[in-house]
Amino acid sequence: MRTRVCISIDTEFSIGGAFTSPDRQPVAEPMVWCEVGGRSQGLGFLLDQFERHRIPATFFVEAAHRYYFKDQDPMGGIVRRIAAGGHEVQLHTHPCWAVFQHEDWRERVRREPLQDEFFGRAEEDTVHLLRQGQQTFASWGLPAPTVFRPGNMQHDDAMFAAMARCGIPYSSCVGLAVFDSNDPRYRLYSGAHRRHGVLEMPVLTFQDWRLGGRRHLKTLTIAGTSFAETKLLLERAHEQQVPLVVLLTHPFEYVQRRDDQMRTARGNALHQDRLARLCRYLDGNRDRFLPTGMGEAGSALQAAPDERNVLLHGSGWRSICRLAEQAVNDRYGSWALARQGAPA
Ligand SMILES: [Zn+2]
Repeated sequence: MRTRVCISIDTEFSIGGAFTSPDRQPVAEPMVWCEVGGRSQGLGFLLDQFERHRIPATFFVEAAHRYYFKDQDPMGGIVRRIAAGGHEVQLHTHPCWAVFQHEDWRERVRREPLQDEFFGRAEEDTVHLLRQGQQTFASWGLPAPTVFRPGNMQHDDAMFAAMARCGIPYSSCVGLAVFDSNDPRYRLYSGAHRRHGVLEMPVLTFQDWRLGGRRHLKTLTIAGTSFAETKLLLERAHEQQVPLVVLLTHPFEYVQRRDDQMRTARGNALHQDRLARLCRYLDGNRDRFLPTGMGEAGSALQAAPDERNVLLHGSGWRSICRLAEQAVNDRYGSWALARQGAPA
């Protein structure tokens, strides 16, 4: 059996400090394209790599930003480019954008804490947000989303009931090292699991090291995991017949930046190298791995989900190497950005 590999990209705009400073505004396209010197180091870089290695990916596109960008539709052109590349466009929602439906949003965010939580949200409220997403997809001329991913991987049981009510058949809501609801029913490391009739395909969570009785969990992201670690996990997943591995990334992780407008920014060579190597590896090992979109994976696994919930182990040594390479990359990046930002 080939292991399906789903590269998932949460594609979203930034509030850009608008909630805290009256002179600041949300940032749209620069957060997704991440243009540096006329070249897209974010979405453009990703689409180019996927095309070069024939990898279909899944873009979870944030939809609640429409509450702010009402008639201007900065995401419309972006989703059309993604869909034209043969990739899946699926639904992602950050509830904090919903406050913009009120004229007095500035007063509201000053008065009460920001409502960005899906955890603990009333089911009815989540249904409302999901329907707003479905309407947004229809306005973009896209097929209805079949997979949902919440902002910050925040989930609870009521969210799954809400997805079922909205007719969303698949989800990718769980990434335990990003958010743990402490509900044992949702302590999901891998596989595909039915909850309220919705098939949940968690972002892979693995054990990256163990010291005595203490173990450390990590969720599989490009920004947080070296290529050597990812490759090891893919091999172990295949050995243990884990039917799919879901990875998480964002377009803005392929730049180092000082601001969301990308005025002072540079390509992130380390993260770009990891993604490029992963795509090349998947392309060269199609006998064992099958890169697919998440909706496609959901419909393939629907009949026989893998509920074993295998916890894969990484390698402690490789995580130490990754911490070192990350530190060098971050330090060099800050130094280079400081030089770039300094007046000539
Ligand atoms: Zn997000």
